[in-house]
Amino acid sequence: MKLEKYSFGMGDRFLHQGKAQLQAIVNAKNAGVDITPVWNKSNREHEIVGTNPGSLRQEADDAVRALGWESNYRVDADHINLATVDRFVQCSDFFTLDVGDAIGEAATDSDIASFVDRHGRYIGDLNIPGAGTFKVTRANVEAVAKTFLKAVQTAGVIYRHIVEQRGSDFIPEVSMDETANPQTPLEMFFILAAIADEGIPAQTIAPKFNGRFNKGVDYVGNVEQFEKEFNDDLATIAFAISEFKLPDNLKLSIHSGSDKFSIYRPIRDALRRTGAGVHVKTAGTTWLEELIGLAEGGGEGLAIAKEVYAQSLAHKDALCKPYATVIDIDDDRLPAAATVNSWTGEEYARALRHNPTDPLYNLHLRQLLHVGYKVAAQMGERYYSALGEYETDVSRNVTENLWVRHIKPLFID
Ligand SMILES: [Zn+2]
Repeated sequence: MKLEKYSFGMGDRFLHQGKAQLQAIVNAKNAGVDITPVWNKSNREHEIVGTNPGSLRQEADDAVRALGWESNYRVDADHINLATVDRFVQCSDFFTLDVGDAIGEAATDSDIASFVDRHGRYIGDLNIPGAGTFKVTRANVEAVAKTFLKAVQTAGVIYRHIVEQRGSDFIPEVSMDETANPQTPLEMFFILAAIADEGIPAQTIAPKFNGRFNKGVDYVGNVEQFEKEFNDDLATIAFAISEFKLPDNLKLSIHSGSDKFSIYRPIRDALRRTGAGVHVKTAGTTWLEELIGLAEGGGEGLAIAKEVYAQSLAHKDALCKPYATVIDIDDDRLPAAATVNSWTGEEYARALRHNPTDPLYNLHLRQLLHVGYKVAAQMGERYYSALGEYETDVSRNVTENLWVRHIKPLFID
């Protein structure tokens, strides 16, 4: 099973927007760009919403059938580890092996020593075409092994655990994005060496980049530095594929890639220049489009959207806690519940919709609502029936968000 050059990961908390999401991919195809849709959902999300991994597979299959999609599509067990993978095994065909927690854990001294010996030929001047020439010492290789070897070994354990249950016909991704520091090109190079040593046929790798990849809002950081890291990573991956016999379609995966409008231009330029592929994983941006659609629909839809805000504000600390490292909310910029309750549907939609040029757009409110999906989950049937009643308003916003604000600037222009 081989992942195509361009793939796009879509999350859907409440499992009602599969068709509207796929429509954005169909629009791309009609515009001449082939993108493989990947539906992804993490264990954390399943637990908060009260869904199971099989329901995501069902949603993907249903959407594909309804729209007559004839190309490939995938279902991603997002950020799984050994403790959570089992119920994803049969219904997923893309596995994001999350080893963030193991970064910095020590491998055994003998494993570290044999890693350094095995890759000793790179000690000296190492030229990574496109990224530069690096002075590599034995201590450098050892330092990378000390920080990352155990994490990659952990990925190997998860990978083999999945293979035992379903064979090796699936797409493995190794994710290292949920960690403190970006990986340097040298670190990336030796991480890929370790991945090859472990026998993981990784097709995507999610590194950590500099800057903040907050959920649902634009990138915060140095765009030039990001562009350099992105280009260095592309060059390092291309070189490592030939050095370590990794899958020739191995590519970068960008997590929390939705809404990062200010880095789409450098990404698009780099892909054009190098011919490389990419996997872009969007965060819960579709859930926010549901709220926008409900608000625009008025009536009960708008009432729900307002209630979700009021409840999210009331339970802000608890809702934000699991997402503390990926949101930055300034409390002083959050409107009072009474203020939001006085808004029209249009005002609500404009405050929430990610249109940076709209003076009403409020990124603090947007981040709070991003983590507020638990409130909607607790509404249960009331929320689900509103999704049905306001389907036209919701699906229009879901498709337009992915197509106009994401796929077009990333892959088209
Ligand atoms: Zn991630």
